[in-house]
Amino acid sequence: MPRPISAVIHTAALAHNLARVRQAAPASKVWAVVKANAYGHGIARAYGALRGADGFALLDLAEAEKLRALGWVGPILLLEGCFAAEDLALCERLNLWHVVHCREQIDWLAVHRGSRAHRVFLKMNTGMNRVGFPPAAYGAAWQRLNALPQVGEITHMTHFARADEDGGIDEAMQRFAQGVGTLPGERSLANSAAVLRHGGDRRVAADWVRPGIALYGSSATALSPDAAHWGLQPAMSLRSELIDVQHIAAGERVGYGGLFTAPHAMRIGVVACGYADGYPRVAPTGTPVVVDGVRTRLVGRVSMDMLCVDLEPVFAAGGQPGVGSTVLLWGQDAQAELPIDQVAAAAGTLGYELMCALAPRVPVRVE
Ligand SMILES: *Cc1c(COP(=O)(O)O)cnc(C)c1O
Repeated sequence: MPRPISAVIHTAALAHNLARVRQAAPASKVWAVVKANAYGHGIARAYGALRGADGFALLDLAEAEKLRALGWVGPILLLEGCFAAEDLALCERLNLWHVVHCREQIDWLAVHRGSRAHRVFLKMNTGMNRVGFPPAAYGAAWQRLNALPQVGEITHMTHFARADEDGGIDEAMQRFAQGVGTLPGERSLANSAAVLRHGGDRRVAADWVRPGIALYGSSATALSPDAAHWGLQPAMSLRSELIDVQHIAAGERVGYGGLFTAPHAMRIGVVACGYADGYPRVAPTGTPVVVDGVRTRLVGRVSMDMLCVDLEPVFAAGGQPGVGSTVLLWGQDAQAELPIDQVAAAAGTLGYELMCALAPRVPVRVE
């Protein structure tokens, strides 16, 4: 028998979450953001459930090729645009739309001898200070692009740094409006947090929204409001089983470094899951884990291939946990749901990082 760990991708949840996003921004076209191999879910696995989107957004040219190979003939947007001049030829061959965020990308277009006009998204830096033209330089960049025969339609675009905070988009909205001024063209601003919080506002939802994390059933806003509040369903589950049970006396310690000391005699379950599977090593004692449908906690340090859990709550609930008992690390199983955001919060990170870190050695099933 193979090691009992597995990940499950729930395609019905992906389709449901896409519908939720559409509901939140009913007047906008939707880019399904599938960068980082669909946030760890696998582009090929997610494709069928997300093909109801108006387009797919990602940043890796190889992932764009994969989508075309899967049969997608609609729009694909490269969120970071071209990384070198020669990428423009591939954009033409695969009919990719691309972001333009710096002067060099305009220079490459200006000397490119191609066969078709490029559809570009011109990116404004409205406060993230990562990529994009500052508002004051935006108009000139647009004029230069617009004058190039190599360039077709230009969409105005920005990305919010603080969409998950109350009032977190106000300043960026103002800068965007100022930078765009009266220039014609479609607009795209909103990531998941902005869609969920402000999707009903036409200025924020605009022509194209760009949800990523919401499609995968995690709340972009960490815990509050949580994914259930937004009506999102977990699209990835990480499941395993107990491979041993230890009966330990009061004062015994558990795991590397002996970080956990048993306050009384207790039964400890050993789970076939460790940081080499993508489970965060920094997750401390107390991180939620579900055993046989009963919520309990991780104890001690996560090791490469195993982690330990407190079985007392499971016995207290009338369970008889033993070797082969089912363990839910995050997501859902037949008996319970454990939001990935709760595990992430305990580990001091976000659902994004846990999904993307799912290790290649974990077998993945699609349900
Ligand atoms: C990743 C990304 C998104 C999606 O962000 P989420 O928070 O996952 O919704 C949208 N726009 C750009 C430019 C991105 O890089």
